[in-house]
Amino acid sequence: MTRDPRYDVLFEPVKIGPVTARNRFYQVPHCNGMGRTYPSSMAAMRGVKAEGGWAVISTEQIDIHPSSDISPSSEGRLWSDQDIPYLARMCDAVHEHDSLALIELTHNGKFAANLYSREVPMFPSHMPVAGHPWQCRAMDKSDIRDYRRWHLEAVKRSKEAGFDIVCCYAGHNLSLAGQFMLPRYNKRTDEYGGSLENRIRLFRELIADAKDAVGDTMGVVARFAVDELRGSEGMEFEKEGREIIEMMAEEPDLWDVNVSEWENDSVTSRFAEEGFQESFISFVKDVTTKPVVAVGRYTSPDRMVSLVNKGVVDMIGAARPSIADPFLPKKIEEGRIEDIRECIGCNICVAWDIHKAPMRCTQNPTKGEEWRKGWHPERIAPKDSDDAILIIGAGPAGLEAARAAAERGYNVTLAEARDELGGRVTRESNLPGLSAWGRVRDYRVHRIQQMANVEIFQGSELDAAQVLEFGANQVAIATGAHWRKDGYGSADQFPIPGTDGANVFTPDDVMDGVVPAGPVVVYDDEHYYMGAVVAEKLRGDGLDVVLVTTDSKVSSWTDATLEQHRIQARVIELGIEIVTNHKLSKIGPDTMELACVYSGLVRSVDAASVVMVTSRLPNDALFHALMAQEQAFADAGLQGVKRIGDCYGPSIIAAAVYEGHRFARELDTEPADIPYRRELTEMADGFKLP
Ligand code: ADP
Ligand code: SF4
Repeated sequence: MTRDPRYDVLFEPVKIGPVTARNRFYQVPHCNGMGRTYPSSMAAMRGVKAEGGWAVISTEQIDIHPSSDISPSSEGRLWSDQDIPYLARMCDAVHEHDSLALIELTHNGKFAANLYSREVPMFPSHMPVAGHPWQCRAMDKSDIRDYRRWHLEAVKRSKEAGFDIVCCYAGHNLSLAGQFMLPRYNKRTDEYGGSLENRIRLFRELIADAKDAVGDTMGVVARFAVDELRGSEGMEFEKEGREIIEMMAEEPDLWDVNVSEWENDSVTSRFAEEGFQESFISFVKDVTTKPVVAVGRYTSPDRMVSLVNKGVVDMIGAARPSIADPFLPKKIEEGRIEDIRECIGCNICVAWDIHKAPMRCTQNPTKGEEWRKGWHPERIAPKDSDDAILIIGAGPAGLEAARAAAERGYNVTLAEARDELGGRVTRESNLPGLSAWGRVRDYRVHRIQQMANVEIFQGSELDAAQVLEFGANQVAIATGAHWRKDGYGSADQFPIPGTDGANVFTPDDVMDGVVPAGPVVVYDDEHYYMGAVVAEKLRGDGLDVVLVTTDSKVSSWTDATLEQHRIQARVIELGIEIVTNHKLSKIGPDTMELACVYSGLVRSVDAASVVMVTSRLPNDALFHALMAQEQAFADAGLQGVKRIGDCYGPSIIAAAVYEGHRFARELDTEPADIPYRRELTEMADGFKLP
């Protein structure tokens, strides 16, 4: 297929100072939990994106000195020449596909607690370190000189590593240069404090230093947050955000603009639509002649074209869309728009980084596996046998298993009990704020429909006899899981009295359309999104709702997806009563007894019903029925039966997609005890005791 001429504009080259990007696709810096701890994984992940057509491939944040040590987070580091080789490996991987490699240099200021380096943290003025009971010291003039020197040395090392573009960073509240700009932080009375001119002096100096040193061969980019969404207390795009770009308009070779902090830049789909940053950044092109890049979880090529044609941006910035589909530009270029695996805006990628582990993606099961398992997002080995594959259940696990096995060339049959495909993602996408979950189904169903070797049977609930009769060689059981009613969860491992009552429901009932009698208690002992989403749904049905959680805040795990504060705010705004730090201890016909998780003190809430969001059990009856007749397997020609997804271990959607993908990859292979390559820290030479 060829490119639709409507999209030609996206493939025009863009000059960034002395270097030229081959098209308008710019993968902005993004954390990935790999960094210097998993350098080969990081380099391969970036290289695959270059192969997929992104003209600019950026690093994550790279800290430049031990006084900016954010251990144990696993980001990039460029403190000395020792750090050059792993970054050079990334540059090579990017250059192999004719893309430009960009490095984002930073010093985290008050966000660097220096747990490993033990340096005293630094900041424009005296200030507590974020999240710890110690303080940053106010930088004096010699610190500022040192900081400029470290930054410059890092710029020169970046060049040595092979980077084409260096990014001076004043975004996300994660960089001293940006922190100096903010009056709430900068209380200085010298030439680096007070007037706006003074507060941006340091940022200007970093850019000028970089330009002097490498500006003839490397692009020098400014990454700047024009608004912090905190009103007059912070940067505002109609005030200093604009003035700063006006004052420095022509100083960098490109402006990469966004809103700060990270939770505002990477808002989940539950709280923001594609293009949500446009109103904040659309002024930038009016005040500079330099190219502008901005993000907004863009996955629609029409939207991208309109952004360029309207003069909002010159390049389409993306982190999450490039994670979900590293080949997004190539697919547009080749006229395969429908094949784009659109980001669902769930922020599981962010969550893994926050938890200091290599990034995962709900939509892209190969993310983080490029080097470790050699998985490519678009290529998969051809089949090794003529085995017929039967997959039971068309949720995310079953759909992905069917898609990937079919791409390998196997003949696949997919049987689904319900009339609709998608399993939990279809059901959950009908709940408030979760419609984007449907993209997990849409991409896979579309791909499956393109292949003649997959047959789908909807409305086909299979039992063990039918499976054996079917005559497949390999069977995947992807029958999902169901929510427990009995109250077992993190807090309780015995049935809660009263859970056998008729007024006890689960999210499955709510998704089936049941509206319990109000007032209703939603009991959340799971702490991800379901508790608050069910509460919101029932509130929308007109019920009085009390959300009881065993944790100290609503949906506490969503701290990792950067949306906890928004979820809690929404719950409050909807008029849902919140009771934290309480277990449900007894269910009555019209009263629920709650016990404080600390003191055990009991209180009661008047409620006619309760929805239990505690944990789930696998739907594995079919698996066990099959295992009970293992002898009949061989007679039926069946060589293997595997459980995948929630049926094997109830988990997040990303895990189900991964397990489905893994099933397909591992067909006709011998499972290894350690199923991936590892990166081990090297032993130092010449070790001696002190
Ligand atoms: P996962 O997240 O692991 O993919 P889901 O719960 O989303 O799991 O999907 C499981 C799917 O399996 C559901 O759509 C369900 O209707 C289907 N299913 C369950 N049991 C059977 C069965 N015996 N035969 C066919 N389909 C089944
Ligand atoms: Fe998008 Fe979710 Fe994948 Fe992150 S994990 S890139 S938000 S689909």
